[in-house]
Amino acid sequence: MKYSQIFSKTTKNIPADEQALNAKLLIQAGYVNKVMAGVYNYTPLGLRVLEKIKQIIREEMDTIGGQELLMSSLQRKAVWQQTDRWNDQVVDVWFKSELKDGSQVGFGWSHEEPIVEMIKQYLTSYKDLPINVYQFQTKMRNELRAKSGIMRGREFLMKDMYSCSLDQAQHQAFYDSVIEAYNRIFDRLGIGEDTFVTFASGGAFTDFSHEFQTVCSAGEDYIYLSKDKKVAVNDEIMSPKILEQFNLTIDDFERVKTAEVGNIFNFGTHKSEQMNFKFTNKDGQTQLVHLGSYGIGVTRVMGVIVEKFADNKGLIWPEQIAPYQVYLIGIGDKQKADDLYQKLTAQGVEVLYDDRDLRPGQKFADAELIGIPYRLVVSPKLADKIEVLNRQTGAVEELTFSQLIDKINSRK
Ligand code: ATP
Ligand code: MG
Repeated sequence: MKYSQIFSKTTKNIPADEQALNAKLLIQAGYVNKVMAGVYNYTPLGLRVLEKIKQIIREEMDTIGGQELLMSSLQRKAVWQQTDRWNDQVVDVWFKSELKDGSQVGFGWSHEEPIVEMIKQYLTSYKDLPINVYQFQTKMRNELRAKSGIMRGREFLMKDMYSCSLDQAQHQAFYDSVIEAYNRIFDRLGIGEDTFVTFASGGAFTDFSHEFQTVCSAGEDYIYLSKDKKVAVNDEIMSPKILEQFNLTIDDFERVKTAEVGNIFNFGTHKSEQMNFKFTNKDGQTQLVHLGSYGIGVTRVMGVIVEKFADNKGLIWPEQIAPYQVYLIGIGDKQKADDLYQKLTAQGVEVLYDDRDLRPGQKFADAELIGIPYRLVVSPKLADKIEVLNRQTGAVEELTFSQLIDKINSRK
């Protein structure tokens, strides 16, 4: 892609009300555009990052047997009334509206009830189970505070997965496989080392649910973390009783600020009972479905990655999710850069080519702000060599074309 063709050029104009570092940097670098607090547009550049994050999640969800679908945003009131979650006293983030005939609809903030309502229409026998489905869907939540940029949206992209299982054993096996899949996802996204499976408040059936919490100074949560003992507990549930349960003392933990990037939940048969979600078992009797739900905040993860890796010059994308692999700048000799752009593109390398008529210094500054992993420079002075600057480490090398291709391929 030629940078001259990207409409969202870097800018110094950041909305005065924007407080979050992640949104400031993403706006400055042209990845997102602010509509209002907690509501952002994603430019073609920003969408490339989101799509790469989604693809990593998709691959891991497919690996454990998930099937992708897409649920509607408009939801029926009657479906949520069955569990009392239409009630604004119970769920305080609803956006609601009305159809022309005066009947009420809700904008989906989650999809447990609608999923049950749909699958109910297909599920008859135990032979149909398990059913594990997921989607990438824009959730609407009327959040009270939306001061964390894309980390807390009033409209945000979530991956939500739902499991319908025969019994507790089948549920548990899948639940455990999701924990492993999530660990692989956060590893691949570059935040694995700082992301911890955390005990959080449970539900109707279990003592705990599990959150995936990433150490991040811009997060809104606190966890008690014991790296030695490999235990993390959400601040909200820390108590003498919990310490006793884990046979630990408070001194075993450090309290750290985190962002919740994922959350997994066992509903047991509670919701199925409320919604009459049943199947016929081997013995011909009706039985309640075991239900689980598993979220990842896709746009929140993008914000967390920005916050964790950025430096004072701008963004730094992990290679797996960078919108382009290399940022190409030509000095002095335009033909040389044009040729390299063609050659790299032909090799399947994702190149962002800064073909603008600007001083090199301005292009260097934009390259740093935009945060592509490798900056390539060609110039008469470098002859046949290409200067390769690693955005993260600052290391510089001069490589031939084939050395560069080898390097890029070895990073995939
Ligand atoms: P939080 O406690 O941060 O409000 P939650 O418990 O409401 O999160 P869930 O309903 O479990 O979150 O949603 C699943 C995932 O979606 C969360 O783990 C988080 O990563 C993400 N998420 C939740 N709310 C938002 C939001 N307003 N903006 C962006 N991502 C969100
Ligand atoms: Mg919430």
